[in-house]
Amino acid sequence: MTLQELAARGNWIVVDKTIYGVHQGFPFTLGLNTKKSSDALTMLFKTGSTVPLKVVKEIRTNLPKRTMVAQPNGGLQIIAASNESCDAYMLAMQVLSAATAAFRNAKTPIEPPKNCPVCKQAGCDSAAEINGKYVPVHRACVRIHAEKGKSEANNNEVSGSYLFGILGAFLGVLVGCVPVFLLGILAKIEVGFLFILIPFASYYGYKFFKGRLGNVARISVILCSLLGFVELQLLLNYYFLRAEGYMVSFALATKSYFANDFAALLDSTWFGLVFLAIGILYSFKMLGTTNRDRIKQTENSLQTVIPLSAPAATQNSLDN
Ligand SMILES: [Zn+2]
Repeated sequence: MTLQELAARGNWIVVDKTIYGVHQGFPFTLGLNTKKSSDALTMLFKTGSTVPLKVVKEIRTNLPKRTMVAQPNGGLQIIAASNESCDAYMLAMQVLSAATAAFRNAKTPIEPPKNCPVCKQAGCDSAAEINGKYVPVHRACVRIHAEKGKSEANNNEVSGSYLFGILGAFLGVLVGCVPVFLLGILAKIEVGFLFILIPFASYYGYKFFKGRLGNVARISVILCSLLGFVELQLLLNYYFLRAEGYMVSFALATKSYFANDFAALLDSTWFGLVFLAIGILYSFKMLGTTNRDRIKQTENSLQTVIPLSAPAATQNSLDN
């Protein structure tokens, strides 16, 4: 079964390679991986609270063997495979009824997030994909959000500056280094894990200074993060030398730092470097987001709007 066929049977919407639907007031997304003998479904529900293990177990018992049920942050993910007696559509319906029934019957019923991600108010009337999450929203808010995103992207494309962005990325790193440095000298602990913050500080600096989005953002943030990393090592080294009573100048401390052999330097910094790398990897997608991507995201939000009261695909359509 193709994604289009599956969506048509359920009366669901397809955008890119994902199906969007609402079942009994619960928004969900559905991905399909077609293989020779069976189709693998990946369904995701965003929930307002963590799904208790008991509910996960109940869902699993009502679904075919080898179905995987996981609880990613604030949601429930179900991966199941179809077979000869149960095609992808029947399986999707099975998953939808098992999940929504277990949600409803839980001790504290599990619901989708209550508040609209745009205006933070309750009383949502539709579902839409906002910032990569398919959640309840107000239909009017989706339009406002999309128009705002689109005009921001257009403005950034026209007036965003690489130069200011690079300056912002650099200043962002300087600001981000302050807490790491202070904690390093005050707590005298290994603060390597805090290096994860540096790429983020740099990215927000880039954005704050209205840097033009795209690959230049990526490169600037990476280079500025590395620069910040080296600068921090030198400052900490200088500080600790002074604290130990060596009255050296910063230049001399720096010289002595680089006089260490490479292995010794790596040995003392690898922990921080690992976290710096994690920070960079984590922000890599965000960093490379271009204005074209952002415009596409806003179009996706608009295309995925479904009323929360949409009638559920009924068992009758199984007979079609
Ligand atoms: Zn709203």
